[in-house]
Amino acid sequence: MSFNIAIDGPAGAGKSTIAKQLAKKLNFIYVDTGAMYRALAYYFLTRQISITSVEEVAKVVEEAKVEIAYENNKQQVILNGENVTNYLREENVGEAASVTSAYGCVRNHLLNLQQDLAAKKDVIMDGRDIGTCVLPEAPLKIYLTASSHTRAKRRYDELIQKGEHPDFDEIEAGIKERDERDMNREIAPLKQAEDAILVDSSSMTIEEVVQTIYKLAKERM
Ligand code: C5P
Repeated sequence: MSFNIAIDGPAGAGKSTIAKQLAKKLNFIYVDTGAMYRALAYYFLTRQISITSVEEVAKVVEEAKVEIAYENNKQQVILNGENVTNYLREENVGEAASVTSAYGCVRNHLLNLQQDLAAKKDVIMDGRDIGTCVLPEAPLKIYLTASSHTRAKRRYDELIQKGEHPDFDEIEAGIKERDERDMNREIAPLKQAEDAILVDSSSMTIEEVVQTIYKLAKERM
């Protein structure tokens, strides 16, 4: 039997940074489910599908074959045979993913893939509905959050480091809008599972968060 850790939480809470470090420490595989939703969104955008129309999306979603591979322990997303990993972090792809991930046809299309990965290997899987829908039996579930101000500040600093000139208020408004959509959709909304442990990273360092979850994992393994 594999041992799985589910980490859910809003955009910018640090899920992927934390999950990657934990996966290394525990020798688990890190599965980034957001990247799968982004790959489908990328497919819809490049095919010029009207993403606000669930009917249009439903017509083509089955054509998009998403697979996961690992290169030097890094997750790669393969879309219809092409490695699209490098195209997925763009803001417009994330925005589109947040819109199309609300559709049942999109979520169903990815569910089996996510559950299969977790059935075969010890994984740390992050997303929005991992503890509530994808891996409801996971022995450790974390709900990782931080205030919208903290999350916006982290994103702002990241962009400054890249030499960009972002507007803080715009970033925070975007984060709040994404939260609103992810938390209020009908299917698999973002919420803390009843048996998930809440970790608020607003005033914690990355190391402190990693250490907290590592201890919890060790206690349960
Ligand atoms: O985590 P990331 O920002 O890459 O996710 C992109 C979008 O995909 C999220 O805003 C969310 O709408 C969607 N998503 C989801 N369920 C998941 C992972 C991501 O709905 N398990």
